[in-house]
Amino acid sequence: MRRKQRTRHAHQKVRILAGILLSVVAILAGVAAVGLVDTEGVVETLVETDLPSVIALDDLDRDLLEAELSIEQAFLLTDADERFKATERYERSVTRARTEWGAFRASAGGLDPELRRLVVSYETLNVAWVDSADELTEAARGKTPPAAVALTGSAISDDRTRESLDLTRRRFDAMRQFSTTLKDDYYEPALTSRAPHALDRVRASLLWVLLTAGVGICIAFVVARSTVRATVAQQREIEARDGLREVDARRNEQESRLHYALEMARDEEAAIGTIGLALRELRATTLAELLVADSSHAHVRRAVTTDDDGLGPGCGVGTPNDCPAVARGQTLTFADSTKFDTCPQLRDRGVAPCSAICVPVSIMGAAAGVLHAIGPLDANDRSLVDDLEQIATKAGERLGLLRAFSRSEAQASTDSLTGLATRRNLEEQVATIERNRVPYAVAFGDLDHFKQLNDVHGHETGDRALRLFARTLRDSIRPTDIAGRWGGEEFVIVLPHTTASEAVGVLERIRESLALTLATGSTPAFTVSFGVGDFEDADTFGDRVGSADQALLAAKRAGRNRVVVASAATSAAVDMSEEASA
Ligand code: GH3
Ligand code: MG
Ligand code: MG
Repeated sequence: MRRKQRTRHAHQKVRILAGILLSVVAILAGVAAVGLVDTEGVVETLVETDLPSVIALDDLDRDLLEAELSIEQAFLLTDADERFKATERYERSVTRARTEWGAFRASAGGLDPELRRLVVSYETLNVAWVDSADELTEAARGKTPPAAVALTGSAISDDRTRESLDLTRRRFDAMRQFSTTLKDDYYEPALTSRAPHALDRVRASLLWVLLTAGVGICIAFVVARSTVRATVAQQREIEARDGLREVDARRNEQESRLHYALEMARDEEAAIGTIGLALRELRATTLAELLVADSSHAHVRRAVTTDDDGLGPGCGVGTPNDCPAVARGQTLTFADSTKFDTCPQLRDRGVAPCSAICVPVSIMGAAAGVLHAIGPLDANDRSLVDDLEQIATKAGERLGLLRAFSRSEAQASTDSLTGLATRRNLEEQVATIERNRVPYAVAFGDLDHFKQLNDVHGHETGDRALRLFARTLRDSIRPTDIAGRWGGEEFVIVLPHTTASEAVGVLERIRESLALTLATGSTPAFTVSFGVGDFEDADTFGDRVGSADQALLAAKRAGRNRVVVASAATSAAVDMSEEASA
């Protein structure tokens, strides 16, 4: 959760930073664009107006000069061919000059008044010059040089020609003057001032562009770096989540395996065996053991250990509360058994330096044991700790269930007042004996005048008398004999491998023992009568109990506090007396 929040904050920071940097880039790009547009205007003026104008005016000046020289030559040369050539040169120069003027006008663009005045002056002169120049050309073509030969076949006199030539020269000079003025005063200064300005502009724009690019690269770097980082972090998160999911899946599978295995264990011993097998699957290098207390929780015993080779003594903890993990009710890990802050049970145990993990086991909500693992293990290995905790939890649950079950089973089979077997349990035990074909004797006991004892001394005393009789009964028979409370103050005793006469001996001993106990105690005196069943006549347990009951009746009749063995005679006597009383 916290990691997610951190990632979100990091993303927010990156977005803010990228936003700021992008704004800076936008401003820089705007400035660079304005600079570029401005530069473009300057360069455009330079390239489209200033530079072609200067070039055109330069060329114009050169061609005007050449035209001037050519026309002069045309008049000075005597050779007709040479003159003709000069005339041709003159005409070419004039044509070029016109073209260049045209080029100048095309590139000059909008003219301010002063410029317009110069241009108009030039063009006026040009028109005048063209007229006179045509005349001159004609003259030049047809005439010998004025100084050497008189011109013939022409209406133009020498003086007029000279005048015309002078005028043309002056016009040429004036035109050149105009063009030079135009070039020197307008276009060249504009060129020389605009060119460095354009250069400055280009440099400034370059700087802005570089700045924009630089900041752009910075943004790209920052964004790319944080994106890569975020992606790597995301990837790691996914991997970690996958890892956790895998661990969870493994643990769930282990839990269900353990659950089913423990479910198959029908008693505590089997459950502990299963836990031992589960502990063996943990780690090859881990020695694990389960220490559990019995139902009284007074002492813990080592229920199971994976130390088959007897590599070292187990944990020597004696009672659940002597174990720090159980006392604290939480898993404790000890990284080094030699350190002063390790569990004393581990430190004083005489094993090689090791690590330990101790997980308390709780049975039916009470701390009842500890799952303990030692070895060259990493006490901070969460996975191992989780595995042990899982086994401890499952072990506690199953042992609790089995103990509760056996307790309720015991409760169902034991009479709560006397602690003797219930009638049902007694019958079940007899069924087992009969299945094993074991011969047995059956005695039916009934406390004499017990109603009277209750009436005189109270029901509490009656209960006490019943418990005392049960204790006496239990103490007087063998462990293999079965004594059960049939109901009220009636008891049935089953004596395996015993004949009727041997049974009489046992029952007499019980009677004597009861008398002795009562003589020394505070319970009011009472006696018991027994009837012993007839083995010959009765095949089933029910028949034998019935036969013993008949004998008991005979014992009652005969005065109580005695043992009577059933026989055909007793049965008949009892039957007859019952008929008589009826
Ligand atoms: P008998 O010598 O002929 O057997 O006379 P009895 O009084 O013992 O026989 P009866 O069947 O008349 O009375 C049995 C009495 O046992 C009645 C009842 O109050 C008493 N009793 C039966 N179960 C319990 C018990 O759980 N606690 C107590 N205190 N008395 C019981
Ligand atoms: Mg009775
Ligand atoms: Mg009785």
